This record gives sequence, C-alpha cells and structure tokens, in this order.
Amino acid sequence: MRFSELAAAYERLEATKKRLEMRVILVEMLRPLRPPDLGRVLYLSQGMLRPEYEGVELGVADSLARKAVALATHVPEAEVARRTKEVGDLGSTVGRLLEEQSRLATDDPLTVAGVYHELEAIAAAKGAGSQEVKVRILTDLLGRATPVEGKFLVRFVLGTLRVGVREMTILDALTEVYADGSKPARLRIESAFNLSSDLRLIADALVEGGLASLDRIGLEVGRPVRPMLAEREPSLDEVLKRMDGRAAVEYKYDGLRVQAHIARDGTVRLFSRRLEETSAQFPELVRDLPKAVTHLPAIVEGECVPIDPETDEIRPFQEVSRRRGRKHDLEKAESEIPVCLFLFDVLLSGETAVWEKDLPDRRAVLASIVRPGERVRLATQRVVTTTEEATAFLDEAIAAGGEGLMAKSLAVGSSYHAGARGFWWIKYKRDYTVGLTDSIDGVVVGGFQGRGRRAGQYGAFLLASYDPAKDRFESFCKVGTGFDDAAMAAMPPRLHRFLAPEKPPEVESGIVPDQWFRPGVVLEVRGAELTLSPVHRAALGAIRPEVGFALRFPRFTGRIREEKGPTDATTALELVEMYRSQVRQATAEPAESPPEKE
Ligand code: ATP
Repeated sequence: MRFSELAAAYERLEATKKRLEMRVILVEMLRPLRPPDLGRVLYLSQGMLRPEYEGVELGVADSLARKAVALATHVPEAEVARRTKEVGDLGSTVGRLLEEQSRLATDDPLTVAGVYHELEAIAAAKGAGSQEVKVRILTDLLGRATPVEGKFLVRFVLGTLRVGVREMTILDALTEVYADGSKPARLRIESAFNLSSDLRLIADALVEGGLASLDRIGLEVGRPVRPMLAEREPSLDEVLKRMDGRAAVEYKYDGLRVQAHIARDGTVRLFSRRLEETSAQFPELVRDLPKAVTHLPAIVEGECVPIDPETDEIRPFQEVSRRRGRKHDLEKAESEIPVCLFLFDVLLSGETAVWEKDLPDRRAVLASIVRPGERVRLATQRVVTTTEEATAFLDEAIAAGGEGLMAKSLAVGSSYHAGARGFWWIKYKRDYTVGLTDSIDGVVVGGFQGRGRRAGQYGAFLLASYDPAKDRFESFCKVGTGFDDAAMAAMPPRLHRFLAPEKPPEVESGIVPDQWFRPGVVLEVRGAELTLSPVHRAALGAIRPEVGFALRFPRFTGRIREEKGPTDATTALELVEMYRSQVRQATAEPAESPPEKE
C-alpha cells in the first residue's frame, strides 16, 4: 500500500466526528489490505508500532522533530518554531511548508512497508549518536513526503496522531470486512482480542480463515490478557441477590493489579491493569514468583500491596504508587516498602487454559499451585450465603487493611471474562452505604488559569467521564481542590503532550476552559454527590433530556490513575448507576435493578 493512501484516509478520519462515518472510512481502508501491511496499518492507526504492551517508544522529542522538519524543508529552525506556535502543531506546520514549496509526489513514493520499516529503525536507535540517527531517518522520510504524508508522519512520531481510531472502532470495522457485521460475530472477534490484546493477530487470523480461525488464538505467556472487571451494587443485600444467594467473597486489596506471566524456565513478566509491563518495578516479585508458583508455565493475577516489614500489616496504597517508574533506588524501595502480591485468579496452568473454567475450579487450581510465602500469598476468600456473613467478612477485610470486598459468582458460566465488566464480580467498598463516597476516575480535558497564589499556573481542571457507546468524553466537574503545590506543579509536564488548540472533537462540555486537552491523563476524584447539571454533559439525557451529571464538591484524592488510559475512566453508565444508588439510599425505595451490561 502506498503511504499516501493511508494519509488520505487519515485526512478523512480527522474530518469526521461520527463513529459510523469513521467505520465506513476504516472499512474502505482495511478491505484491500493483506498481511503484513494489514497489521502495520492497524498499529500505525493507533499511533503505535507494536501492540501497546510491548512498550515500543520512538523516542522523538519536539526539538528533534523540529530539526528534521527544518532540514527537510530548508527553513531555519527558529522559523519552523514560530510557524508552529502560529498554527498550533508541528504536523500541520510541515504540511503547510511542503505545500508552499509545491512538493509533489516523487518517483520514489513512500509505501506503508517502507515507512514502517524506517519508523522501526527510529525506535531501535539507542545510546550515543542515536539522536543524529533519528534526525537523519526522519529528514529522509520527510524529504520524500507529500504535504499530507508529512503532516501525519510528524504527528505519528510525536505521538499526537489525532485520527481517533480506538480499538473498539477497529474491531467494528474488522467485523464488517471479515465477517457479516453481526453482533455475534463482533462479540467473537472482541473476545479473541480480549484474550490476545493484539489487533494484528486477530486481523491475520481473520484473513486466513475467517471467524473459525479465531479459535486458534489462545493464551500465551508474555502476552497480557485484558483484565476481567467488576460491577457495583449499593448494598450487600443486593450483592447477594445478584449472586442468587451464594457468593465467594474476597478481601478487596487496595494496591496495583498485577498479571504475572511465568514461563516454563522461570522467567517472569508482570503487567498492569492497562497491560503495561511493570516487571522492573517489582524485582522481589520477579524473583519470588517462580518459587511460589509450583506448576509452570502459569498466568496468575493478584493485587500488589505494600506490607509493613515489621508488623506484616497492609500499608496505604500511596506507598506502593511511589515506586512507580522509579528505576534507580529500587533496592532501597524494596527494603523500605516491600510489597506482597495477593493472588486471586489463575488463567493458565501448565498446558491447561484454566480461564475457561468456572471460579470454584479456578480457585482450586490456584490453591494447588501456589506455595504461599512472604511476597506471594492467596487472597483471603470465603463462601457466604447470608448478608450477616457478608457483613462480618467486610468488617474483617477492612480491619485487615482492605478497602472493601469483592464478591464473585460461583455459578455455571463464572469463567474468566477477559476485558469485560459484568456482575460475575461485584466490588463493594464500605463507604457505599453513606452517600456518594466511591471515587470517580475522570479524564482531564481542560485547564483553567489559577488566581492568587496559583497565578501563572493552572488552578483547576475540567474532568470528563467516558461514554463507550458514543466514544465521547463528557465533562462532569471542574476540580481545583485537593492539589498541593507539588501535585499542581506536576500537572503541566504530564499534560503537555495532550495540549489541543481547540476543543477536541471527542470531548463534550458546556464549559469552555482556558486550555483544552486531548483525553490522556486520568485523575481520581471524590465528591459529595452527583447532581443534575445543565452545563455538564456526562451521561446526557440519562435522567432528563438535555441534562447531564455534575459532581458536587469535587476533590482530587492525590492519585493520578497512571494505570488507566482515557477509555478506562469511569463510564457514563457507571455514573448513572452511582446516581441511582444514591437516590435509592435517599428515598429508601425498593431497589430497581440497574440495566445489565453487555
Ligand atoms: P476498575 O478496575 O473496576 O475499572 P478501579 O481500577 O477504580 O476500577 P476498583 O474500583 O478499586 O478499581 O476495583 C477493582 C480493582 O480491585 C481490580 O481491578 C483489582 O485491581 C482490585 N482488587 C483488589 N482485590 C481484588 C480481588 N480479591 N479480586 C479482584 N480484584 C481485586
């Protein structure tokens, strides 16, 4: 495929806000493709070179790309910088410069394969002299690019490709190209993706043998599985009702989720909730897991929490979060803030795909292959049949340092539902019983200038929830409380790569901030209650037409949800459920069940 065809499709994708139109463009773009171009285009369209969990980074900073643009267009760097400020982004700037220079397609047009190969070389350049290598490759590519190609090339290397194709939209398109576009076909494709987390694998299998060949895609050690997620219920009574009066309840540990992949030879790779590799953060787990898990290979899952080395008690989550990204001093962190992994699930044991089994069988396998020790233990679990038993267990969990309980269905069908949020698992934090005290994860979509002590910096942020059905980020609050000076100062560098010159098309809000951001950074907030709002757009129309939800008295908890991407933020449907349970508590009406999710 010519790169110009891909760039033209991106141009069309960028111009539309409608998910349906996007799908049509994607279908046209994907239909003629075959491996290996197909996989390359899928990765490129998401702004990546490899599946996300491989963590391949191009390592191209603004200044480096600017230098390459200057060299390729023979315009001084200062002038490129000035024009970029005027236009808003370097991609558009190079597009315009090439246009002004009447750059036409060369005799040696760029191809997807060629561009992909060169981008791989940019990513591979490491160490001394690598900056020069990256500049040279990018300059050469831009030297052969048409204006539109140049625009998207630069945006790609800077990580600001804004064509907005999310995984779920790509799965929609694949269903249409390689199956009959029906819902069952879509579900089958999605579940294969949830198990493999790799779009190329799915697309290649579909090309080869249609839906039937998806069955071949199983678990593989080293390739993370998208995590099973939990629903909420407002009371333990309702939790038990949902589970037909009998459930396994477990301590809900408040830490970081860890999916551990242990190969036959004892090599360990750890993945976070959003499938990023976190092995380097927890050397003690990498060391101890092959000893604690006796039957290999294995894929097990648990929550990692800090433990007081003196008393063996669970410590607050913040202590483990401080270890994130800390490459140096890990040894020190290890002895000061040791962690323990409480295992609650097993997906693969030896050659057996344990994830397909129901929970009682999985737990039995887990218990049989784990030799609990200092660093790796089993999550405390009990089977309960009455609200009294569940309440007693909850008290016990809280006393032991948990934040609540996780109730899990023992019924037929309680297999590991990868990537799905459903009532097979229900999370219950103690605070649910009084007002709205569960936290909400909001995506930063805007910033407001600070005043007084915060003059010259941000004073507050506009947060949005996510609506997967519409693929939109809808505002629900403006939050400035809860940030200390250090937390506020840490925001601009994190937000920098998401700066947007105008309201991003995927964002909806009746409020106009001083600065817009593309959805990227997720913050945890708490508030007094959810109220109906004429200016916010979260879950618009769910309760009354043209009215959205707002969070009253929002406060940042101090926790940046680094393990969450924007689409992992609290969803519109979750807000509706939280609002309903709030109303139910206030009026003590008989509960009406929230709508079942897919
Ligand atoms: P979610 O992961 O549901 O989107 P979240 O990241 O805000 O939401 P919580 O609402 O606190 O997390 O609850 C779910 C998380 O609880 C799980 O993803 C997991 O990390 C953690 N957890 C702690 N203990 C358990 C347990 N025993 N079983 C399953 N998950 C547990």
